[in-house]
Order: sequence, then C-alpha cells, then structure tokens
Amino acid sequence: MEHEDPTRLINEVLAEAWSRTALQDALQQIAEGVTEVAGFGVAAVSVLRESGEFEVVAVAGNDDCRETLLGNFTPLADIEAELAVAEEWGRLRFVPHERLPEGVALGWIPDQAPLQVENAWHPLDLLVAPLLDDDGRWRGLLAVDLPEDGMRPDEVRRRTLEIYAVQAGRALASAVERQRLVEQVQLASAARTIVRKASARLNFDQILDECKQAIVDGFAAQGLWIRIFDQVADPYGQMYTAEGEEAPMTDDIVRIANAVAMRCWEEQTVGLVSRRRSTIRPQLSTEDARAVMEYVDTLGMSSLLFVPLGAGAECLGNLAIARAPGQPEWTDVETDAALDIGHDLGRALLNARLFEREERLVDELRQLDGYKSRLISTISHELKNPLTAIQGHLEMLDESDLQPSVRHALEAIGRSAGRVSRIVEDLLVLSRVENPKLPFENVPVDLQKAVESCLDVLAFQAASKQLTVSLRVPSDGPVLALGDERELEQVCANLLSNAIKYTPAGRSITVTISREGGRAVLQFADDGIGISTEDQVSLFEEFFRTGNPEALEQPGTGLGLAIVRRIVERHGGSIDVRSTLGEGSIFRVALNPA
Ligand code: ADP
Repeated sequence: MEHEDPTRLINEVLAEAWSRTALQDALQQIAEGVTEVAGFGVAAVSVLRESGEFEVVAVAGNDDCRETLLGNFTPLADIEAELAVAEEWGRLRFVPHERLPEGVALGWIPDQAPLQVENAWHPLDLLVAPLLDDDGRWRGLLAVDLPEDGMRPDEVRRRTLEIYAVQAGRALASAVERQRLVEQVQLASAARTIVRKASARLNFDQILDECKQAIVDGFAAQGLWIRIFDQVADPYGQMYTAEGEEAPMTDDIVRIANAVAMRCWEEQTVGLVSRRRSTIRPQLSTEDARAVMEYVDTLGMSSLLFVPLGAGAECLGNLAIARAPGQPEWTDVETDAALDIGHDLGRALLNARLFEREERLVDELRQLDGYKSRLISTISHELKNPLTAIQGHLEMLDESDLQPSVRHALEAIGRSAGRVSRIVEDLLVLSRVENPKLPFENVPVDLQKAVESCLDVLAFQAASKQLTVSLRVPSDGPVLALGDERELEQVCANLLSNAIKYTPAGRSITVTISREGGRAVLQFADDGIGISTEDQVSLFEEFFRTGNPEALEQPGTGLGLAIVRRIVERHGGSIDVRSTLGEGSIFRVALNPA
C-alpha cells in the first residue's frame, strides 16, 4: 500500500514559493501603510534569519533609505544592545538619540535638521517595534523614521504604529510556520527516500545503519528505537533523554509498544503519545497510559511516535521515535511518511529474511552436492579394481575344463560383472564431468566426425534390431562446436545408444547436424517408445529411469542423460527434449560454435 501523496507534496512546495513572495509583498504593504497612514517618512521591516541577523526585506518611503537599507544585515545582539536603554511605549521601543549607546552602528540617518521645539524628532532617534511570536521569540523588527510633522509621535500615532506592528508580526509568524511545515515535509520525504533506497539492500542491519540517521534528522527526533518481534537480539537504535543520555525502554514500555504496533498495523495508522496535547493514540488502559506518559516524562520528551513495521498482513516489529520539547507537533504528512517508512522497512526485513534463508539453503545444498560427488567418485574408484580383477580372472578360466553347470554360473557372474562395470564406468564419467575444477579442452570439434565415430561403435546394435539410422548434415561444410572432443562424443554416444535401446526393431533413427541462430545443433530423433510428459521433468536427473515397463526391459543405469546434461552445461550449451509416449522422441543439443 502506498501512502505518499505527490499532489500534497507539490502543493506544499508551491505553497512555499508562494509564501516567500507573498511574505515579501505583505511586509512591503505593511511598510507602505506605515508611511502613508501612520505618518512616517520611512518604514523598514527586517526578518530575523537563522544566522541570528536581521535582514531588511521591505522598505517604504524614501528611495535613498531603501537603497541603503534593503538587504542589510544587523546582528540581533546589536539591536538588543540598542534597545536595552529604550523607553517602552506599549509594543514600541523608543530610544531618544541622547540615550543611544556609544559606537552603535545606525543603518540610515536622514539628512534633516531637528525642529527647535520640545519633543522634536531627532535624526538619531530610534523608534522600533520588535516582532515577536507567541512564545516571545524574536521574528523581526519594524523600524520608522522621519515623522512627517517632525515631532516624536503622540499617543494616537503610536497606537496606529502598533496596529501595523501587530500585522507585520502575524504575517511573519504565519510565514515562518508555513516555512517550517514545508521543511518538515521535505525532511520527512527525504528520510523516506533514503529508507526506500537503502531497502534495496539485502542485509537488514546494513539497511538500519544507513537509515537511522536519516530518520532521526527527517523527523527532528531525539531518540530512535527499533525492535523486530522475533528477534532475540537487542533492539536497534536507542532512546535518549532530552539531555542526550541513553534511556533504555523498560519491559513495560516494550510490551505496550509491541501491542500498540500490532493494533496500529491492523488499522494502518501510527500510535502517538503527546505530552503537550495530553493525548495517547490508540487508546490504552489507564495503567498503560500512565506508564507511557511517565516514560515520556522520564525521557523529558514532548512526544513519542510508535510506527508499526510490517509487510502484507503481518506486523513484524516496531519503531519508536521521540521528540524533544521545543520540537513541533507531528503533522499528518509526517505521520503518513513514518507509516510509509514502516512499510518500507517491513518489506526490507522480509526480503532480508527470505534472502538469508535462501542463502542458508543454497549453502546446505552445495555441501550436500559436494558430499554426493565425493561419495560417487570414491565408491566408483573403489569398485573398479576388484571388478577388473573379477573380469580378468573370468577371462583366464579355461572353459573347456568346466562342467556345464559351472560354466553357466560363471557366465552369469560375467554378465553381472559387466553390468556393475557399466555402472561404475558411468559413475566415473559422471564424477569427472561434474567436477568444476577438472579442466576440459576447448577446441573446435567436428560434430559429424563425433557422430560417425559413435555410429561405428553402435552400428552392430542398430543392425541387430534392423533399425535404419540416417545422418543429415548441411551441405556447406562441417559444423564445428567448441569443446572437449571426448566429452562431446560421450554426448553423442549416450543419446544415440538411448535411441537404439528405446526404439523397437525395424523402425528408424535420424541424427541431424545443423547451424541454428549462431549455434551448432545436434538432433537425435527416433520413432521409438517415447517418454510421458510427467517423466520428461526428471529425465536428466541422476539414476532416473522412467516408469514405462517397455523402457525398463532395457538394461540401463539411469546415468546416461545426467552425464549428457552435465557435459552440455559445462560447455555453455543447452539440451531439450520433445517426446510423445508411443510415438518417439527428439533430443536436441545446442552448443557454442567454434
Ligand atoms: P538409462 O541408462 O536408463 O538409459 P538415461 O539417463 O540414459 O538412463 O535415460 C533415462 C531414462 O530416459 C531411460 O531409462 C528411459 O526410460 C528414458 N529414455 C532416454 N532416452 C530415451 C529415448 N530415446 N526414448 C525413450 N525413452 C528414453
């Protein structure tokens, strides 16, 4: 489920652009209002920047003054020093020139001689209205000069000026608030982007390492804590007190946080404990609510956000984010972004788990495979010597001296030894071709020659079954495959001998050599007994023999096709089979051309 609402983000960004120009316009109008209505020759509005300096952003009245002042910066400390000796006129602060501290840098001094009367305005007089927010923090400054009547302002004029100061203060406060919201949105979505990018990794610890800071920064958080439910290990991250000390979650809080996460995941929302608003979401038992509030108090935090981590229907863990006093309340955009992060991390966690499990399995399989290969190789080597001895001694016996019953028994022993010998031979070939470390030659192999040398060997078997074997080759020269001659001949021999074995007497076999799509292709087609679709699935596995009784009548080890597959694979080729039970089979091998 995606929660991001691009329209909203765009609107917020547009609002920011709007608020900048709109703020400037609003402040300019206020400055002009002061010059037109309140009866001052000039009025300037400054905004307190993060650097701690006031920047003059709007000047009305006098061109010379505008040129001098606009864009000027004055440190807050200088202004405070000037105003330390001011007379308090309601919201206004007046510093008569005679009180001005030595060395104060004044921005602009009108070139005008004061009137020679009592209460006359002096060019060095200072009259300003501090623009403070609700918490009494400096946001800006409205300064005036050059009263039209040349006099220090009376009550009426001061009141008018105050009204403008209030307006300017409001415009500033709302612009600042708006700006802050926009920044919050940007930070939250930046955090989400980082989490989403990091989530592509497959190691969850790494993901968390990469994301923790982004989440802390993105949500103006003081502490961050993540717990994965079935993880015995310690939770990630840490909660900190407002003083920056580690504040481990108590067992009680862990229990409550887990329960809240479960509920929140079900409802697809986040849990929130807010000190300032005295609210807890979702509703908890009185006891739990008290415990949570106390914990937030211990932390010295103003709020704690519980975000469920999950994927699909399953809640997998939780994430708690704490905010210190002085940090803003959570906006909807932020809680939405936090919930999205819960989704991203949940999915990442699930992927990481699956990946770990898969890796473990692959590792186990690899070990098993290695064990199997070693076993096959050892057994076949161990069997080979005694078998050779048995067969050698059988050959040395002088049959003419033997009674018929003994001769029959020895013939039976000879046949069995032959069968075992074939199995051992096949096993030896298999263990050789499945050994990735064993080098094999990579030379051009003429496929026609390879097939023909097999045909020579197998011609007798084919002839004894009256099978017609034909070989088709392209007319434009030999087809060369890149590989090991002995191994490729083995492929041909196995496929051809199968075709001969599994094709009833009197029928035909066609071997076709061709070039297809840049590959050297060998095809063995027979109109034999065929292979059921079900059996085709396991055909190339070691020791697999089909369940077809007709096939089982033929001697076999179930290793021929496994050997073929191994050889073809280590040559970078492919093999496939098309077959219909009772109609015949086509085995097709595609190899890299030389
Ligand atoms: P086997 O030693 O049993 O021939 P293979 O690995 O060569 O072992 O073949 C596995 C099984 O595939 C055989 O037992 C047989 O049932 C089936 N098979 C292989 N080639 C053919 C074919 N050309 N026609 C029908 N069945 C075949």
